Amino acid sequence: MNIRAEMPDYHTHTSRCGHAVGRPEDYVAAALDGGLSGIGISDHMPLAGHPDPALSMTPADLPDYVAEVLEVKRKHPGFVLLGIEADYFPDRAGDVRAVLESQPFDYVIGSVHYLDGWGFDNPENLAGYAERDINAVYARYFELLGDAAATGLYTIIGHLDLVKKFGYRPTSNMAQVLDTLLRRLARAGVIVEINTAGLRAPVAEVYPSPAILAEVHAHGIPITFGSDAHAPQDVGWGFAVAAQLARRAGFRARAELIPQPGGRMQVEYRRI
Ligand code: ZN
Ligand code: FE
Ligand code: FE
Ligand code: ZN
Repeated sequence: MNIRAEMPDYHTHTSRCGHAVGRPEDYVAAALDGGLSGIGISDHMPLAGHPDPALSMTPADLPDYVAEVLEVKRKHPGFVLLGIEADYFPDRAGDVRAVLESQPFDYVIGSVHYLDGWGFDNPENLAGYAERDINAVYARYFELLGDAAATGLYTIIGHLDLVKKFGYRPTSNMAQVLDTLLRRLARAGVIVEINTAGLRAPVAEVYPSPAILAEVHAHGIPITFGSDAHAPQDVGWGFAVAAQLARRAGFRARAELIPQPGGRMQVEYRRI
């Protein structure tokens, strides 16, 4: 791999989630190999209300995950961050908050993978698209993302238009719904990630789409980059394309997360 991207990859998973391969040190090695400027490990947090060894680590695993990432962080000071991808469930925000406060995470990716119990991004649940109004699916998804940002629990909002993963597109105009969401994200002060996993999914398009990315820029919301790698060889995957899309959407800078002593996180802006 030879990426030489002057940016970190903030979205990576490990074998602990049951559907990825590689340990944190393998991801760090891949990032060093690829010439990235840093890496955040952000495995799936134990899923409140949806325990499944194929979807996330168990609560009992969490301290080991944290210890393992902290160890590679110590070995590579200034290069590795301890992150987590934490689902937003409307009725479990308190549980999520308690878990987040129990560990020294540098940042938290807020994701929605469930719409009222339906795991819509899991290929096993594809039938659910036929049973629902696709416009209502999009509207509910964007509403939940806005609710997630408003909790203040999340640093970065993950894969902003994940509902398009299997190519089901809205048939009505989503501009109003999207504008409401982006206003809420801007007000909450969250970052939006450009997630290249969309390029590897059936939809074959980065999350969020170029059109939405331009809107993200227009709302003054900062961006980071994430591969959502579930294997070390996917670290930094598609970042050259993603950087080009960001520039085309109007971005000239990306957010960089700089942990401060005492657990505070400072955001700096770097050219892209
Ligand atoms: Zn995953
Ligand atoms: Fe995700
Ligand atoms: Fe992920
Ligand atoms: Zn993700």
